[in-house]
Amino acid sequence: MASDLDPFTVVVHAGRPERVPNAPVGDSPVFSSTYVAGGDRGYGRFGNDAWTALEETLGALEGGRGLTFASGMAAVAAVCDLVPVGGRIVAPQHAYSGVLALLDQHAASGRLHVDKVNIADTDAVIQAVAGADMLWIESPTNPAMEVADIPALSAAGHAAGATVVVDNTFATPLLQQPLKLGADVVMHSATKFIAGHSDVILGAVVTADEDLWAAIELRRRGSGAIPGPMEAWLGLRGLRTLALRLERAQSNAAFLAERLLQHPRVSRVRYPGLPDDPGHARAAAQMSGFGAILSIELGGDAEYAQRVCESTELWVHATSLGGVESMLERRRRWAMEVETIPVDLIRLAVGIEHPDDLWADLAHALKTAT
Ligand SMILES: *Cc1c(COP(=O)(O)O)cnc(C)c1O
Repeated sequence: MASDLDPFTVVVHAGRPERVPNAPVGDSPVFSSTYVAGGDRGYGRFGNDAWTALEETLGALEGGRGLTFASGMAAVAAVCDLVPVGGRIVAPQHAYSGVLALLDQHAASGRLHVDKVNIADTDAVIQAVAGADMLWIESPTNPAMEVADIPALSAAGHAAGATVVVDNTFATPLLQQPLKLGADVVMHSATKFIAGHSDVILGAVVTADEDLWAAIELRRRGSGAIPGPMEAWLGLRGLRTLALRLERAQSNAAFLAERLLQHPRVSRVRYPGLPDDPGHARAAAQMSGFGAILSIELGGDAEYAQRVCESTELWVHATSLGGVESMLERRRRWAMEVETIPVDLIRLAVGIEHPDDLWADLAHALKTAT
């Protein structure tokens, strides 16, 4: 495909079968565990046409070569495995709780040393990364919505000899391309915006470094953390409409952020699209949009925040994000969520419904949940 196409076009056209007479416009999933000898495929744990199509599309969007996984966490585990036993990884103090829990397990077992830092504090990260094997970045972070300076941290990570990884789940490959900002590896929970319909668990990694790609692929074979062909096919089917879904969800999020800012019960709105947000300038410099997730705080009142989550009728009270349907949850309802995330923080994962309906439902819940 031509390299000068806009990502909104690439997301529709990459990873398609060759245009020859009678060829299908898109690949169908192939359900086979094994293949007749003589070709290069061999066995279903080594490759599948449905993965290839999704991997080519994600690779084209991020500027590298893709690898799909059974889940976002399977992708995280494969990437963390690159760090040698006894090695050190620097990670954000606020990030997806599953990633932090996995790192804590590695630290407890003696497998890795883990140092957690405020990923928005560039000087602190630069200090911590000296002598580290890997720098794990998430930006914007889940659910604190902090923005890391990806170009500066990538340069610092490389100067220290560390592999730089970015969890790009919140931004999606359409709003932020970390490899182009200097990172070595991009990781996605494709469960979220990429698949986009809350119907599949799926992960992905993209890198432009062939050695890293081969090392991660070897771990996928070894761990067997492969996606099913149906999941990969659903992931690509969802990804084809990401541009439209994201445009709508993002404009809904921006609208709601402004409304929430005015609301007397809301003490803080965390959304990098707001001009006064601490991450605004950085996000504007490295992202082409501010995304569809925001977090709010309700004056320190955890019980009120919990009741708000239980009072909406349209917004789904559920964990996860990136689906067409708007969802909300108080993150500290989970025992595994980090204790420095405020008890009254609600993460709003904005969907593609009409903004007036979303606001009416949320405003009603904020009013009646007392
Ligand atoms: C959900 C999520 C993950 C984990 O992905 P799964 O597909 O649920 O395994 C990792 N990082 C972020 C930022 C997430 O939101």
